[in-house]
Amino acid sequence: MVDGLVMRYGDKVAVDGLSLDVAPHTITAVLGPNGAGKTTTLETCEGYRRPQGGTVRVLGLDPVRDRRALLPRIGVMLQSGGAWSGVRAVEMLRHVSRLHAHPLDVSMLVERLGLGDCGGTPYRRLSGGQQQRLGLAMALVGRPELVFVDEPTAGLDPAVRRAVWELLEEIRSDGVTVVLTTHYMDEAERLADRVHIVDRGQLVASGSPLELTRGGTVATIRLVVTEPFPPGAPPSLAATLGEGTEVAQLDALSLQITGPADPSTLGKVSRWCEEFGVVPESLTLGQRNLEDVFLDLTRREQLAPPA
Ligand code: ATP
Repeated sequence: MVDGLVMRYGDKVAVDGLSLDVAPHTITAVLGPNGAGKTTTLETCEGYRRPQGGTVRVLGLDPVRDRRALLPRIGVMLQSGGAWSGVRAVEMLRHVSRLHAHPLDVSMLVERLGLGDCGGTPYRRLSGGQQQRLGLAMALVGRPELVFVDEPTAGLDPAVRRAVWELLEEIRSDGVTVVLTTHYMDEAERLADRVHIVDRGQLVASGSPLELTRGGTVATIRLVVTEPFPPGAPPSLAATLGEGTEVAQLDALSLQITGPADPSTLGKVSRWCEEFGVVPESLTLGQRNLEDVFLDLTRREQLAPPA
């Protein structure tokens, strides 16, 4: 879909040789920190920007050159805007539906996305979350083959978030291909068949959420104790565990160890407890989640605490 894409704003390189693919009839999540180049990439796929380097193909077509052929086949939910400020919500949705040959049922979308209460409200008076839901409805109403959704649930309340997830899962079952960006790792973990993690305009990892989180042998061990740790506990445990393991004190009573999930590590932790006179209340071992993987791959030096 995107091959070696380069996009600049003046001197600033926003997308730096990015290549990513999207399998049909799946949900693909493009993740990355603020400013990673996700929206720029999506806007290029949607035909709003011309690639400055590399190529972009969407449903086999060039999004700029073949825009007229592509438009009826794709749905686009922008991060903001997309409707006239004075138009009423449901009126706008009906208008968009009439532009398509085989639209979805407008009332069904209004109900599923909870737009009934604000259907008669002018767009500019809708709350952020209502504008968001209307934007999603407008992207879906034309029964697109492929839909781009930029942060579909940003700022939505938990119930509406779930309704959006269910709707996206349903349209995937109906054969629609979904490309979404999100900052919610639980959303990507729940919805995405495949995840691309982008940082500073470059691809840093790809895979299913399971592949990305279970790919390695690294796990998180959390040790909670009954009395506050004595001074010097984390460095002493880190020295006992050796290279390839990180120890972070979470609070007075708990430590987090990130490292190999093997019997040797667990053995060292319990011997250290014995030697240090520390009484564990709990010792839990968990696989890393997508957020741990994301942070490992994208953590920026400038966000590191001062030394
Ligand atoms: P976010 O998660 O915050 O939405 P993003 O990954 O979508 O970020 P982009 O919006 O694609 O990132 O921006 C990539 C980089 O390009 C950022 O550094 C941004 O400041 C810059 N940028 C984006 N649009 C413009 C523009 N119109 N003019 C100048 N710079 C821009």
